[in-house]
Amino acid sequence: MSLSNISIKTLNMFDKAILEHKKKVIEDIYNTYLQQEDHKYSLEDINKELLKHSPPPKRKIIKRQRKILDCCNARVWDSKGKIYNRCKFNKLNNSDYCGIHKNKQNYGNI
Ligand SMILES: [Zn+2]
Repeated sequence: MSLSNISIKTLNMFDKAILEHKKKVIEDIYNTYLQQEDHKYSLEDINKELLKHSPPPKRKIIKRQRKILDCCNARVWDSKGKIYNRCKFNKLNNSDYCGIHKNKQNYGNI
């Protein structure tokens, strides 16, 4: 299993759990070893120093791209973009067109 198969929500939950664990470890160390040391550093200062928050590395979002060769050969009108595009549906077996365009291509072929 690769990291790309784990949802961002799960990764964020994991990051949060690690942060909580770090805070607990720092607090334990502080209470055991540093609290009596002249009160030179407060727990808050140590937490600030050790848990400096750096932004998490940007995660790539990989979009699956439809194989252009499997797409229908019909030309369609994209009313949003005001341009002609290629139909995005898959070809039917033994045909160059999808189910919608197998008999009629209103705007021709690509
Ligand atoms: Zn089509």
